[in-house]
Amino acid sequence: MKVPLLDLGIQLQSMREEIVTAVTNVIDSTTYIQGPEVVALEEEVASYCGAKYGVGVSSGTDALLVSLMALGVGPGDRVLTTPYSFFATMGVVLRCGATPVFADIDPISYNIDPQAMQEILAGDKEKSIKAILPVHLYGQCADMGAILTLAAEYGIPVIEDAAQAIGAEYPDVSSGEWVKSGAMGLAGCFSFFPSKNLGGIGDGGMVVTNDSAFADLLRMLRNHGAEPKYYHSRIGGNFRLDPIQATVLRIKLKHLEQWHGDRRKNASHYNELFAQTALVQDKRVGVPTAVYLNKANEAGGNKNYHIYNQYVIRVQDRDALIDWLRSHDIGCEIYYPVALHEQECLRGLLDKEALPNAELAAQSTLALPIYPELTPAMQEYVVEKIVAFYER
Ligand SMILES: *Cc1c(COP(=O)(O)O)cnc(C)c1O
Repeated sequence: MKVPLLDLGIQLQSMREEIVTAVTNVIDSTTYIQGPEVVALEEEVASYCGAKYGVGVSSGTDALLVSLMALGVGPGDRVLTTPYSFFATMGVVLRCGATPVFADIDPISYNIDPQAMQEILAGDKEKSIKAILPVHLYGQCADMGAILTLAAEYGIPVIEDAAQAIGAEYPDVSSGEWVKSGAMGLAGCFSFFPSKNLGGIGDGGMVVTNDSAFADLLRMLRNHGAEPKYYHSRIGGNFRLDPIQATVLRIKLKHLEQWHGDRRKNASHYNELFAQTALVQDKRVGVPTAVYLNKANEAGGNKNYHIYNQYVIRVQDRDALIDWLRSHDIGCEIYYPVALHEQECLRGLLDKEALPNAELAAQSTLALPIYPELTPAMQEYVVEKIVAFYER
């Protein structure tokens, strides 16, 4: 059996005609920059997230960059973020001329640990931390209750890196109502990279916010800071979303909840399959915590609605396991093999510090196939081969 890490072809087949028609319509319209498809997607994504405004941009990376630019983050400033994420999270901070400051992650959720954040914020006597940039890694919200409380206490804006987490939910601290990722901080940044839960046929991204002045500023900055045309009071860039991507994403957005549901079902099935082996008890494999799976059973525990952009396990003897799985036609990937604070590009820029939870995650995590169309038989094959590896 062949089990790829991700199979975009099956999903495409189910909506290929609709997509080709929509793309053809954009081509025939001759409106190739901004236009009605972009505006419609902005409204639909904002409404899906329960946010007031959506600002389409060229990628998830540019969503983050333009948000930090809008906050005026620059040289001498610091941005508090996680050391365990895709490079873009840190790259945008450095591109603004600012410095990332890392709070270690929680070893269970892999998300930034509010306790570690608290210590850093308390030590920031010169008040150089200008933004807090949590990441909702793998599709599970960071501990936003604690993060928003800290942000309010220190008066620092929160930009959510929700690139992997469109549709993930977390209960509001005061009301207990479930809120979608991106709609909790000042702004939330999404990526429409093809492997995200809502992926285009190329690059794309969006920022959502409830702040109308911030939304206006984002719109201005994504278009070189021009307002009106050819008059530039701020320096922006070309961060616009392509209408061809927008029209495709509008079609896919209608299926997103279904896909989340299928991914969550697959995650649940993996957890059941692993529970039937000795691997979890032997601590050879660590699975995502089961209480994250349902809204209903989370009363006393971790409150999170995970949309499983990735299903990530912790494993012993990872490199040999990867070779073994690939030799059995099973796709898998390490997200991420090097923690951000250990990246070579920081050498000479930042003093290297120890962030043991992030470093351990980089050494031991492994993502398995979790895409919506994955079948139970494929999942059984994957777990069977992992068991066979440790029994070999
Ligand atoms: C994908 C991703 C990004 C960047 O998105 P692009 O659309 O690829 O630029 C940023 N942060 C995280 C956590 C991501 O997973």
